[in-house]
Amino acid sequence: MSCVLLVGAALLMPTTQEFEVKRIPVALDLEKLLPNLSQLDFIEEVETTRAPIFSREIAPGDTLGSLFSKAGIDHQTMYKVLEADLEVLALDTLMPGNRIQFWDNDAGELQKLELYFNAARQVVFSRLDDGSFEVKDIITEGVWQNRIIGGEINGSFYLSAEKAGLNANEIQRINNLLKTKFNFARELRAGDTFQVLMNDQFIEGVPTGNTEVQGVTINAYSRNVSAFQHSDGNFYDENGESLAPAFQRIPLKRKYRLSSHFNPKRKHPITGRVRPHNGTDFATPIGTPVVAPGDGVVTMVKNHAFAGKYVVIEHDNKVRTRYLHLSQFRVRKGQRVKRGQVIALTGNTGASTGPHLHYEFHVNGRPIDPMKANIAEAKVLPKKQLQEFQQIVSSRKMMMSFG
Ligand SMILES: [Zn+2]
Repeated sequence: MSCVLLVGAALLMPTTQEFEVKRIPVALDLEKLLPNLSQLDFIEEVETTRAPIFSREIAPGDTLGSLFSKAGIDHQTMYKVLEADLEVLALDTLMPGNRIQFWDNDAGELQKLELYFNAARQVVFSRLDDGSFEVKDIITEGVWQNRIIGGEINGSFYLSAEKAGLNANEIQRINNLLKTKFNFARELRAGDTFQVLMNDQFIEGVPTGNTEVQGVTINAYSRNVSAFQHSDGNFYDENGESLAPAFQRIPLKRKYRLSSHFNPKRKHPITGRVRPHNGTDFATPIGTPVVAPGDGVVTMVKNHAFAGKYVVIEHDNKVRTRYLHLSQFRVRKGQRVKRGQVIALTGNTGASTGPHLHYEFHVNGRPIDPMKANIAEAKVLPKKQLQEFQQIVSSRKMMMSFG
């Protein structure tokens, strides 16, 4: 295992070459010396050499207001940052252990703000000429490695899986995957076995904490059950039958006019600057019920200066959905929801130009167009996909047999 990690780290080494740039005297004609280096890259590189004016590891009880005031940044600037954050909604997700860093410019204004979530993700806000901010969500894929876990039932599934090396979160995910097909409390006996194939993310050899379940088999005394993740992110049993109720494309009970499309290149009508529209807008009257498009866990229920009242749901298939400008919540943070369950009522809160639902669909942390996304709307995989899936299953089962 350690050999593979070293290879991963070596592949990432070339990034250090960029540091050489800083040693070149500014008076030289950089463009001629380094034809591939654009002026912008150079400026960004120089900025990072400036020490942050304030850097802090988030602790319980920290609020955005307190962090900005400790950094000496005024309220008005904080609102400009919040406005830019409407695209990503990253500030609300800061957790104890994450890091926030502020940089100023020669005029003493906030120039850059970085949120460090883990080695795989940072969000950076940079000041523009007009005093507004642009946001970059920096996601590093790193190297994913399989981990095979095998164990025998002795006591509950939870205790047995924990003993085999799975953590509480991973056991919960397995439980959620199989609970409609298998009764963990009644169908397991001492001596039954299980195999799990996990996939863990590493950046420069360090685990980021991002993991996913790729396959589970349980060999119970009465029967075997299994779940495998397909390339579409969803889970199916060995026969290609979906384990969760199919996802629905639109989180509404009936059709409403689509008033604004997903558009990553949308330009602001006045400034002409690119302000991506990461969602799809539906012209819904205030009070229209919003339903969960699939099973999941509510990870955010919040009021934001620009997003208004909003809800975030994490689904099992690497999908996250977001609902903005709501008028009323029907769920709590941490609550598990089922497909079709009413989670909120639409509204016109925050920076909104009229009653509507702004709906976002993210896969692996990146917003995509829900109207075009490959959403598994069927209960069973169609023939063509089934062939591909069965190949995935047989190779994963072979790996798991080594566990
Ligand atoms: Zn929108």
